[in-house]
Amino acid sequence: MADLSAHTPMMQQYFKLKADYPDTLVFYRMGDFYELFFADAEKVTRLLDITLTSRGQTAGQPIPMAGVPFHALENYLARLIKMGESAAICEQVGEIGLGKGPVERKVVRVVTPGTLTDSELLSDKSEAMLVAVHTAGRQRCGLAWMAVTQGRIHMAECAADELGAWLSRISPSEVIYSAGVTERFEQALLAIKHSSAITCPLSPRPDWQFDSGLGERKLLELLGAASLKAWEAENMPLAHAASAALLSYTEHTQGRNLTHIHAIQVQRDDALIALPLATRRNLELIKTLRGEDSPTVFSLLDTCMTGMGSRLLKTWMLEPERNRQSAMQRLEAIGVLRGAGAGMTPWQALRAELKGVSDVERITARIALRQVRPRELVGLSKTLQKSQLLAQSGKAPSAYLTQIFTDLIPPQGCAELLASAIMEEPAALVRDGGVIATGFDAELDELRAIQNNCDEFLLELESKEKLLTGIPNLRVQFNKVHGFYIEITNSYKDAVPERYRRRQTLKNAERYITPELKAFEDKALSAQERALQREKFLFEQVLDQLQPHVPQLTRVAQAIAALDVLCTLAERSLTLNWAEPQFVSQPCIEIEAGRHPVVEARMAETSSGSFIANHTRMNLNTRMQIITGPNMGGKSTYMRQVALITLLASMGSYVPAASCRLGPIDAIHTRIGAADDLANAQSTFMMEMTEAAQILHSATPHSLVLMDEIGRGTSTFDGLALASGIATQLHDKTKAFTLFATHYFELTELPAKAKAAVNVHVGAAESGSDIVFLHEIQAGPASRSYGIQVAKLAGMPAGVLNHARHALEALESQAGENDTQVNLFDAPELVDDISAPSPLQQALAAINPDALSPREALEALYQLKNIS
Ligand code: ADP
Repeated sequence: MADLSAHTPMMQQYFKLKADYPDTLVFYRMGDFYELFFADAEKVTRLLDITLTSRGQTAGQPIPMAGVPFHALENYLARLIKMGESAAICEQVGEIGLGKGPVERKVVRVVTPGTLTDSELLSDKSEAMLVAVHTAGRQRCGLAWMAVTQGRIHMAECAADELGAWLSRISPSEVIYSAGVTERFEQALLAIKHSSAITCPLSPRPDWQFDSGLGERKLLELLGAASLKAWEAENMPLAHAASAALLSYTEHTQGRNLTHIHAIQVQRDDALIALPLATRRNLELIKTLRGEDSPTVFSLLDTCMTGMGSRLLKTWMLEPERNRQSAMQRLEAIGVLRGAGAGMTPWQALRAELKGVSDVERITARIALRQVRPRELVGLSKTLQKSQLLAQSGKAPSAYLTQIFTDLIPPQGCAELLASAIMEEPAALVRDGGVIATGFDAELDELRAIQNNCDEFLLELESKEKLLTGIPNLRVQFNKVHGFYIEITNSYKDAVPERYRRRQTLKNAERYITPELKAFEDKALSAQERALQREKFLFEQVLDQLQPHVPQLTRVAQAIAALDVLCTLAERSLTLNWAEPQFVSQPCIEIEAGRHPVVEARMAETSSGSFIANHTRMNLNTRMQIITGPNMGGKSTYMRQVALITLLASMGSYVPAASCRLGPIDAIHTRIGAADDLANAQSTFMMEMTEAAQILHSATPHSLVLMDEIGRGTSTFDGLALASGIATQLHDKTKAFTLFATHYFELTELPAKAKAAVNVHVGAAESGSDIVFLHEIQAGPASRSYGIQVAKLAGMPAGVLNHARHALEALESQAGENDTQVNLFDAPELVDDISAPSPLQQALAAINPDALSPREALEALYQLKNIS
C-alpha cells in the first residue's frame, strides 16, 4: 500500500478500508451522514445528481466529497443498484471518544445488484439473480446461479455458443466470471452484453475462486450430504467451479455463510421448451415491445395475492417444461380449485386466506442470514398460523394439491415461539429495544419492571422522607443531567438530616442524594441499559432457535407460492373464459376458437368491439400456414395467439380458446420485425437474417416457428428470393410447425408444391374504395393486398393514392411479360384525384335534409361555408 503518512488520520483509515473495495462505492459513516470521497464522490454526484463539495484537505489537496443523510441511505442505494452499481456500507463500530484518532469503522454490508436481500431494495415481483460463469476450454461453460433470498442453487453446463441464450433466459442482475479467462471468452461475454441479451453488470472475480473441487466441497457442506447424486449434480466440474465462485461472492457480500441453501436444481438444456430472447420480446411476455410492464401476458395473468406467487408465476411462464408432467399436475389442481356448482369456490376461499400473508421465502432467507427485522417475524408468525389453517384443507382430489397442503404444515412450535417471544407491535430495529414480548424472559421482565416501577418507588420514598424529616414540601425527582435527587427549599435548610449529601445548589433550594436513592439510581439506569442488552441477546437466541426450522419454512414458502399461482390461474381461467388444454402424443397444434388474450383484454377494456376468435389446425399434414392479407388485417395477432396458447398450455394454464389439443413442443421461435427496426434498414436486415438463420439451425419438427414478413429489409427480389428459400427449408428440411406471414404474393404458390403447406388469409371486405377488416382466418390465399385501401384509411393524401393506383395498374398489367421495365413514374402528376370527392362534397353527402330541424339546417349551412 502507498505511504499514507502525509494524510490526516481519518483519511488514512478511509484509504485502508477503500483498498478492500476498489470497484465498489464506499459509504463512510460520519455522524448523521454517509460520505463518499474522491472518485466515488464524483461518480455518485454524476449518477444521483447530488452536490459535490469538499471536506477539508489531506496531503495538501482538497478532498472531493459527496454526502447523503443516514436516514435516506436506502433510497440512494436503491437508485444506485438499479444503475448496476455496488456499495460497501462502512459504519462506526467503535465507541466515540474512546482512544485517540478516528472512531473505529468497519464495512458491515456490501450491497450488489445480484446479492440483494433488503426488502426495501428488492422488487416484490422479481428475483435478483446472481450468475457465475466458468469455462475451461473453448467448448463448454459451467453456470451456477441463485437469488440469495431463495433456498436453492441452480446449475447447468452448456456449449459456449449457447451461453447467450442461457444468460438471457436467467435474466441476471449481476454476472461474475473468472479474471483468468481468455481474452476471447471475455470478448464473447461482452458481446453477449452488447447484444442486450443481458443488461446487468459483468465483473471479474479472482481466478482461484473458480475451483471445481472447492465448489463440490462447498455444495456438499451446504446440503449436508455425502454425494451430489440425489440432485443429479455430480460430474459437472465446470458448474461446480462456477458454484464455488458464486458462494464465495455471496458469502463476501453477506459477511457470513449461507445456511439456508438446501437444494440444487440442475437444468438440462433439453428439459425446457426453448423461448429465445426474441420470442419473449415479440410475444410481450413480461415487457411490452416499448419496454413497459403492461399490458403483457404476465400483467394479464398476475392477480397473485403474494409476491412469492407473482415470482413463481413468472418462473412457470418463462420455464415451461417439455415433459408435460408438471403442466398436467397444475391443470388438474386448477380444475379442482375452479370448483363446481354454487357457493364459494375453493380458489375464492383459499385466496381470502392468502391475502396479506408475508413473504415467507425472503423472511426465511433473512432469518438464515440473521438480517431479519422484528416486524417481519411478527408477519411470519401470523402467516404460519394461517398456513396451519390452510393445511387443514388436507386431502384434495389432486395429488399436487394434497402435497401442497402437507407442505403448508408449519414447523412445530415455530409460530408459538414467535408469538411468545416477539411483541405484537415491535420496534422497527432491535437496537431501539421494545421488541421482546413481556413474559418471555423473567430477567428482562424484572429489568423492565425496575424502569416501570420507578415512579412508584419515588413516590414511596418521598412520603417516607417527608415523614422522617417533617419537611412538608420535600420532593423526590429525576432529571437527565443530574439523575435522582431530593429537593428541599431553603426555608427548611435546617431540618435536612445528616445522611443527606448535597448534589446541587439552586437559588431557592438545595438538591440532595441519599445512599438509598443513589443505589436505586444505579439500578434504574443500568436496568435500562441491561434491558436493551438482554433484548439483543434474546433476539439472537430466537434466531438461533429458528435456524433448524429454515428448511421447513422454505417448504412452507414454496407451498404458499404454488397455491397462490394455482388459485390465480383458476381465477383467470374463469374470469377470462379460458378452457383446459389437452396434451396428446401425436404432433399437432389444434385450436378451436383461439383468441389473443392481451389484445382481447385491451378491446374489452376500451369497449372497442369484440375479438374475433380463429381456429388453427396444424398437424403432420398441415405443418405450415402461408398467411396473406392486408396490413392491419390481423396476421400478427393470429400468429402470436397460436404461440401464446401453446405457451400457456405448456406452463399448465388454461388457454384462451374453446378447446386446444397440443402435441409435444420443444421450442417457440419467432422472427418478427419490430416497427422501429425500419429506421436502421442495413443492420436490421442483417439482424433479420441472423435471427432467421438461428431458427433454421435450431428448430426441429416439434418446434413452433413464427415468421412475420421475412425479407422486408432488402430489395423486393432479394427479399422474395430469400423468403421463398426460408419457407422451403422450413417445410422440406426443418419440418417445424410454421406460421409464415408474408406480403410476397408469390409465396402463395408454395402449397401447390409443398404438400404440408396451406394458404390461409385474413379476410377483408371491400365497400367501394374502402376496406373493412374481418380479422377472420379463411382458407386460401388473399385475393389482393389492399395496400392502397389501408393507406387511405391511414389518411394518405388523395394525390398519392391516385398515383399509386395508376402505378399498381401498370405493374399488374406488366406482370408476366418478360424483359419489360415498368416505369412507375408514368403515372399522372401528383394532383388530387378530381374523381375523389372533395371535403365539401363529402360533407354535403353526409347531410340528410329530411332529418334536420330548421335550426340544424342553418347550422349545417354555416359549417359547409366554413369548409369551402
Ligand atoms: P397485421 O399483422 O395483419 O398487420 P395485426 O395483427 O397487427 O395486423 O392487427 C391489427 C389490429 O387489428 C390489431 O391491433 C387489433 O386491434 C385488430 N385485430 C387483429 N386481430 C383481431 C381479431 N381476431 N379480432 C379483433 N380485432 C383484431
